[in-house]
Amino acid sequence: MILYNTLGQTKQEFVPYEGRKVRMYTCGPTVYHYAHIGNLRTYIMEDILEKYLRYSGYDVKRVMNITDVGHLSSDADTGEDKMLKGAKREHKSVMEIAKFYTDAFFNDCKKLNIKTPDVVEPATNCIDDFINMVTVLLENGYAYIAGGNVYFDTSKLNNYYVFGNFKEEDLAVGVRDSVDEDANKRNKSDFVLWFTKSKFEDQELKWDSPWGVGYPGWHIECSSISIKHLGGHLDIHCGGIDNAFPHHTNEIAQSEAFLGHPWCKYWFHVLHLNDARGKMSKSSGDFLTVSLLESKGYNPLAYRLFCLQSHYRKPLTFSYESLDNAATAYSKLKSRVSALDSRLDIDDAKLKPYQNSFKSAMDNDLNTSLAVTCLYDVLKAQDLNDSEKLALVKEFDSVLSLDLESSEKSEDNNEDLNEEITALIEKRNEARKNKDWTSADAIRDDLKARGIVLIDTPQGVTWKFEN
Ligand code: AMP
Ligand code: ZN
Repeated sequence: MILYNTLGQTKQEFVPYEGRKVRMYTCGPTVYHYAHIGNLRTYIMEDILEKYLRYSGYDVKRVMNITDVGHLSSDADTGEDKMLKGAKREHKSVMEIAKFYTDAFFNDCKKLNIKTPDVVEPATNCIDDFINMVTVLLENGYAYIAGGNVYFDTSKLNNYYVFGNFKEEDLAVGVRDSVDEDANKRNKSDFVLWFTKSKFEDQELKWDSPWGVGYPGWHIECSSISIKHLGGHLDIHCGGIDNAFPHHTNEIAQSEAFLGHPWCKYWFHVLHLNDARGKMSKSSGDFLTVSLLESKGYNPLAYRLFCLQSHYRKPLTFSYESLDNAATAYSKLKSRVSALDSRLDIDDAKLKPYQNSFKSAMDNDLNTSLAVTCLYDVLKAQDLNDSEKLALVKEFDSVLSLDLESSEKSEDNNEDLNEEITALIEKRNEARKNKDWTSADAIRDDLKARGIVLIDTPQGVTWKFEN
């Protein structure tokens, strides 16, 4: 399998540290607000990666943190803790906010068929682990105390900007919110490992530490939780592209300084979902959620299909028009699959070329849009019977997770669909009788948009799925 690795900025053959075993880490949500559909684009694509690795025979262990402390409003350690901001906004405690939005996040994931990682670890569960890591970094000379906080000393590294694409001057972009430079830092790129002296006296969650009462920096969470559950050799680390700098750059700095050897082999970054105003962001407070899409009548899985139709390494622009197209395509796909007859004999040899095209699409840096095309090729295929088509749809859907087939429902679906279309055909006949050509044409066009074509026969009108 070939994957683009941000470390090296090239497509590379995916070879885990240890045979077929894959240790995978995902930066989890900061639970001070609902996840927006941009965040969820990242989690959908990571879910596809995990499921495709499993489909390819890898034994995957995936870990995700929940950021419930330490993520400040600027990634460059300035501003307020986002959790505190959420608590103030809603007049609740930080832990109440964390619980509410963690549950909301997994609820959204469920609707989008995003599997829950094997281990989900809230940062506030691991304070002792963070303290241990910071202690080691101080002992081995990679960290220093200044103004009451503990900082990582980036000048101790030969190459801090490991992803290469961030030049010194880009730092200004990464830390653009930090108007108030932290005078305690020895180097501009140093970052906080542990806050004891913070300008925010009202920080709600604080713990005792060898450096005084305080709370951890955001970056230490992910390094520490990953090493705790996956050991010192990580195969793949995922996140949205905004996490590459400074968050992941800092994770690499502190993890390798702590371990004393290279840590993570592959860095998988998903490009942003944008709307007409630019990158969708939680802090703007004005963003789209799964519930909002549902309230407008969209099936969340239509949004999943919308994401799969483009490559994860390209920015994706959201518009209702493109979501409408995905929703129409989704209901057509469902109808076509539900009409397949599952009772015929299957010749496995005939499935092979279709399986191979699916694999070669996904093996090429997770080309999900081509994988979706493979699905259409199966439905159109002249050399496959219905049951062979259904077997392939099921197999591909074990990765794509669009709920295309659900065996218990398919017979009911078929009946429902038949009834619905028969009723529409009657309505259209009635309209034609009354010379109401506009209504008759509208019914025919609506059905066509769902992939259903009407056929006039001497016995009356029947229907079929278009190829
Ligand atoms: P957060 O909850 O802000 O910590 O972000 C959760 C995940 O969503 C991280 O992996 C971010 O990199 C990712 N993310 C944030 N904004 C976007 C966006 N507009 N499009 C795609 N992913 C995003
Ligand atoms: Zn992280």
